[in-house]
Amino acid sequence: MGYRRLVVPGRFQPPHEGHLHTIKHALSLADEVIIVIGSAQDSFSLKNPLTAGERYVLLEKLLRSRLGEEYCERIKIVPVADIAMNKVWVQYLKMLLPPFDGVVSGNQLVLMLFEDMGLAAIRPQLFNRAECSGTVIREKILKSDPSWVDCVPEEIRKDLEEMGFEERLRRLMIDG
Ligand code: NAD
Repeated sequence: MGYRRLVVPGRFQPPHEGHLHTIKHALSLADEVIIVIGSAQDSFSLKNPLTAGERYVLLEKLLRSRLGEEYCERIKIVPVADIAMNKVWVQYLKMLLPPFDGVVSGNQLVLMLFEDMGLAAIRPQLFNRAECSGTVIREKILKSDPSWVDCVPEEIRKDLEEMGFEERLRRLMIDG
């Protein structure tokens, strides 16, 4: 372990196996992990089709299924809206979240902002990045490539269908 609490920010549009790898890595390093659902203000857009609430439901279901109750006791999920000033984003997180020691992220901006505040900034190994990426998944849906589901955990596929995820993205595409 080593850390008391680490943050794992993400957009989770939608949650996928790569996200799970990063969350598990954070759990191996810290007593507690706070998953920040970022860009919580955005939804029904091509980059952020799902609402923060939908992403919360999907993540919770997935983590319960994969990690069990024991691990879920060590994870908190917090939706956070973006702010216009990157430089003070970590301060803003400090205001919203319980005290944290650092971040686990593959996102360079996120890593830089935490380093800048003198906090731990841990870069996880990427898992099958060619397939396991929200951008790739969303692009495949728009190209009607059925392999988009390959990196999307089985446990949440039905929920995504009920949320109308594919249809929503395709309709958003019509107006660009
Ligand atoms: P994302 O959903 O793309 O990724 C979430 C995490 O999963 C990242 O750490 C990423 O590296 C990891 N991941 C993705 N694919 C992986 C794979 N195949 N294998 C292993 N790990 C993988 O989310 P993101 O874009 O990194 O989210 C950052 C969030 O923080 C955004 O919502 C952003 O707006 C927010 N943010 C806000 C501000 C601000 O408000 N000013 C500043 C910085 C960041």
